[in-house]
Amino acid sequence: MKFSSRVLLAVALCVAVGPLSGCYYLRSEAVPEISNYDLDLGELQRLARSGPGDLPAEIRREEVGTAELPGALMMAGRSWDGVEMTHVVFQILWPNGAYLLIDSAQDREMHDSTPGSGDFDDAAWNTVVAAMDGAEQIVITHEHGDHLGGIARHPRSDVLASKIRFNAEQLANRDALEAVDFPVALLEKLSPVVFEDAVAIAPGVVLKKAPGHTPGSQLVFVALGNGRELLFVGDVVWNLDAITDLVYRPRLITDLIIGENRETAIHQLRALRDLYDRGGVAIVVSHDRRTHESAGIETGFSLPMPSIEIGH
Ligand SMILES: [Zn+2]
Ligand SMILES: [Zn+2]
Repeated sequence: MKFSSRVLLAVALCVAVGPLSGCYYLRSEAVPEISNYDLDLGELQRLARSGPGDLPAEIRREEVGTAELPGALMMAGRSWDGVEMTHVVFQILWPNGAYLLIDSAQDREMHDSTPGSGDFDDAAWNTVVAAMDGAEQIVITHEHGDHLGGIARHPRSDVLASKIRFNAEQLANRDALEAVDFPVALLEKLSPVVFEDAVAIAPGVVLKKAPGHTPGSQLVFVALGNGRELLFVGDVVWNLDAITDLVYRPRLITDLIIGENRETAIHQLRALRDLYDRGGVAIVVSHDRRTHESAGIETGFSLPMPSIEIGH
């Protein structure tokens, strides 16, 4: 059965059996009391400070676009009122001006073809393209188009080969890469960052595997030189309310549309809630601007001025 037919059938069944909120595919399900996902903060903190070199000094963001989805599709049991989703790229900056990017957003064409898409900022997209050119490394939280598509749509993507740091599961997810028409010439040049569970890829920056939303999903832990610590959680949740209210995406989205490993991801939600309750680490949800602002992430990338050729 085609994907769209499955969704229509699920919705039809929901309507047939009673109120939408009571339907298997839309209802809220209890989140486990105890997580089986090993989110060892001490280990992330140790890895972040394990190598030589200064810790990052600052984090900035570029907001490329917005979208809106019904709340009931983002968090089971919520109303159908629209909830905004922002699409951003994060820039981790070191004191010497070097920087790393987390995610790449997507270009206007991909953005406009996404359900619920709203505004798109061409100037911000052009800044992201320029920032990819100058980045030391580019990592993605996971292999979905709104995080990975910017790399695929970079006008000279070949030049990015040496800086793209996909993990093995991301690189192996050929269906996801094909879905964004990832350039074959670039793909052939890439080799993965191979690690078991967590690895430091630069002073203060640690990747931590979190398969579930996609096979290659990962968290990015960042420790700044000023003592602040942040955890970029990608799309483990789409909105901070999922953590504070302990509600996960409905099965209509996880089972029929995304094809998530729901059981794994819902344990990650529990672990994020425990970290939230503990305090001290800013949890940054990709699509929830409130979490960017409360984490003190300023808007607008810091890029070196382009060199100007002096005329004769
Ligand atoms: Zn996303
Ligand atoms: Zn996603």
